[in-house]
Amino acid sequence: MVSLSDLPLRDDLKGASPYGAPQDPVRYALNVNENTHPIPEEVARDIVESLAHAVLGVNRYPDREFAELRGAFAGYLGHGLTADHVWAGNGSNEVIQHVFQAFGGPGRRVLGFPPTYSMYPIIAAGTGTEWVTGARDERFRLSPETAVAAVERTDPDLVFLCAPNNPTGTPLPLETIEAVYAASRGIVFVDEAYAEFAPEGAPSALSLLAGRERLVVSRTMSKAFAFAGVRVGYLAADPAVTDALRLVRLPYHLSALTQAAALAALRHAPEMLAMVDDIRGQRDRLVTELTALGYDAHESGANFVLFEGVDDPGATFRALRERDILIRDVGLPGALRVTAGTEEETTYFLDALAALGPGGAH
Ligand code: PMP
Repeated sequence: MVSLSDLPLRDDLKGASPYGAPQDPVRYALNVNENTHPIPEEVARDIVESLAHAVLGVNRYPDREFAELRGAFAGYLGHGLTADHVWAGNGSNEVIQHVFQAFGGPGRRVLGFPPTYSMYPIIAAGTGTEWVTGARDERFRLSPETAVAAVERTDPDLVFLCAPNNPTGTPLPLETIEAVYAASRGIVFVDEAYAEFAPEGAPSALSLLAGRERLVVSRTMSKAFAFAGVRVGYLAADPAVTDALRLVRLPYHLSALTQAAALAALRHAPEMLAMVDDIRGQRDRLVTELTALGYDAHESGANFVLFEGVDDPGATFRALRERDILIRDVGLPGALRVTAGTEEETTYFLDALAALGPGGAH
């Protein structure tokens, strides 16, 4: 086998690393913020029936504009949105990539606020977009002043705001989004992958869409909807933005099976989302109990918690791995991230961590 350096790879990809969360077969997989509750069996049956029906038509290409699915997402999101405001892809990663392809690219800049979702710089690199960064405030918060200062310094074509932020869980005030939008000339992308885990009644950036044609708000079925394996993400924006994304998508990018499965799941949205309250409860429990164990657990509006005060994150990661638990070393000094699982999974993790003693394994 030849090595990468033997290939005529693009210069700007030489030395780059792919996304690489470990996919080990463990009993307690709490590392990629999935919903660890399986989907209800009655819903699974209905999805299978829809798939069976769709399979009979797969000799034909699927609806390239996925009109029915766009309408269903608009109905789910509310806020007066219509099918024309909605776009979807194979995971929100793909809709993020579509936005980069249409509004980023060579000679253009995207601003992000690390630590943040690791795919933003990877998709930036893949699309030849320059990745520039701004600092955060205390405890990973992002105030309007701090964010606007970064916008003014870098004059970006795209700004990526992750709300709540992965890997820190930090909620993002709507005021920051409004201020960034007012201060910038480019696309302002708000990634709400974890929005359903926010406290009841917390406002979404969807409420800011009207009258802001450069604002984009993305969601995913991978987290709260327990649908990570199907690969469905979507966004809402001005119809002109979704129209622009048609320039860069591959024709028929959402398979007939994906569309059928997503439509069936959306018909059962309340049952699919039934475990969200439970997960929020386990997330809050993680914050409380990690704090009681002496760690500095961060406030989280998502289904995971970042905790600092780990003496040796690599050693603790490995010690937990030996106990069949996978969490995430996100590369932040003294910190690890854990997904809120079922009550049993969360208990198993907390007990295993406590057994390692103060500060974790050494
Ligand atoms: N945005 C954020 C903030 C995420 O954490 C993730 C997944 N970890 C995604 C987007 C992408 O998820 P998916 O492609 O499964 O929708």
